[in-house]
Amino acid sequence: MTQARLMDGTALARRTVEETARKAADLTERTGTAPCLATVLVGEDPASVTYVRMKQNRCRKAGIESRHVALPAATTTAELVGVLRELSADSGVHGILLQHPVGDHVDERAAFEAIAPEKDVDGVTFASFATMSFGLPGFVSCTPGGIVRLLDEYGVDPSGKRAVVVGRSAILGKPVGMLLLARDATVTYCHSRTRDLSAAVREADIVVAAVGRPRLIRGQDIKPGAVVVDAGYNPGNVGDVDFDSAVERASLITPVPGGVGPMTIATLLEQTVEAAARQLGV
Ligand code: NAP
Repeated sequence: MTQARLMDGTALARRTVEETARKAADLTERTGTAPCLATVLVGEDPASVTYVRMKQNRCRKAGIESRHVALPAATTTAELVGVLRELSADSGVHGILLQHPVGDHVDERAAFEAIAPEKDVDGVTFASFATMSFGLPGFVSCTPGGIVRLLDEYGVDPSGKRAVVVGRSAILGKPVGMLLLARDATVTYCHSRTRDLSAAVREADIVVAAVGRPRLIRGQDIKPGAVVVDAGYNPGNVGDVDFDSAVERASLITPVPGGVGPMTIATLLEQTVEAAARQLGV
């Protein structure tokens, strides 16, 4: 068996952002209004601060304005909901990103639900999950959306394939399974209560690892020729898949970093411009 081909998320994200920048420039010229993403951050968690800054920088480079709302760590659910409702009603804002996690004292779901669905460019609301699952117009959760774009780019047609998604979080595991189901894959979800994870993974034509446990998925469990998507991001740039052993068995595999990660931000920017276009009626 030869080594797997890498699915290069950095390169695809670059092309996606370039295309998004062209659309943003065109929209700005036609309407006199630049697309605008509002980012909301509660507290000063260093990783979250870095993520938000990175998203703002990418916005700027793509011709998307960003407006940042920094809230103190002690912000209550009611206060956060109030801020998100104001942004939802503000016609100068086309997309809203609430950086999460928001802290244990805040009801994250209540906060997400205060985001107007037409501005939910991060795809976190119930409404977005429903439209995504039903294949209706709306916004997808960014990481799952980016994963499907990568599969498309590398000619992976999920139809009829067995896809095993390891992880069932609301922003990653569950929605990526729904997107694969919409592409006619036979989807199995695995999680912390799954008995014999190895046996489930061995059946998979497509494996999506979305767990947050370094190198949980071992090469010996990868079916020869399977497509392996590693969404995990653990300290030390380590994924949820043991890359060195998996690369020997898979046909295609995402590296960590440089696979799924860059596609998440690219999808966010793309959906922000799409939201602006819909709201500005062009
Ligand atoms: P999460 O909310 O903590 O969910 C983790 C999921 O993994 C849960 O469903 C959990 O099962 C399952 N799990 C935990 N231990 C397991 C085990 N031993 N065997 C099987 N399943 C197990 O995490 P998340 O937010 O989805 O993130 C997952 C990973 O993706 C993290 O490494 C995160 O950094 C990364 N991530 C990357 C991006 C990106 O842009 N690249 C974006 C988001 C997240 P239960 O439901 O039973 O608890």
